[in-house]
Amino acid sequence: MPTADPIARAVQQLKRLPGIGEKTATRLVYWMLNAPSGTPSDIASALVALEDGIHPCSLCCNLTGSDPCPICADPKRDARLVCVVEHPQDVLAFERSGEYRGRYHVLHGSIAPLDGVTPDQLKIRELLARVGPGLDEVILATDPDVEGDATALYIGRLLQPLGVKVTRLAHGISVGTEIEYADAVSLARALQYRREM
Ligand SMILES: [Zn+2]
Repeated sequence: MPTADPIARAVQQLKRLPGIGEKTATRLVYWMLNAPSGTPSDIASALVALEDGIHPCSLCCNLTGSDPCPICADPKRDARLVCVVEHPQDVLAFERSGEYRGRYHVLHGSIAPLDGVTPDQLKIRELLARVGPGLDEVILATDPDVEGDATALYIGRLLQPLGVKVTRLAHGISVGTEIEYADAVSLARALQYRREM
């Protein structure tokens, strides 16, 4: 129910965020009331910019404010290597590991028939379009769970006839752990010991 009181309204809106309950929302609102003047509007304008400034990169489909995204545009990144992940947050996880110097491709999900997610809803066509003479290896780094494995298998079958090397992350990260939450050391190891499919 909307409310006119600015404090109650701010608490109500912050509570919509994942992992934020009433107590935390209230604490954040009072923190903002005590923060240097302009802080709430700085935060608000950064959030508003998300609404129209962000779109998928035309190459890797990662969400970005520029096109191509900074990683695709970086000439120091190895364009012969593409790491396929489920979500934009997974790119951040690999970047945190500091081990990977290739490029990415973001599928925006995994094949999950029970949830109604079919291959045509993912950015698979866009991935196949990137396969060519300049690409040596596709690393399938979908999550090590049922959907992630099924997605890797599906994409691997599509890629193999195209003559590109296809690898899958090693089981350095435990089964069921999402890439997004994997620690940097495990992720670096899983990447290092990736195996050919
Ligand atoms: Zn990109």
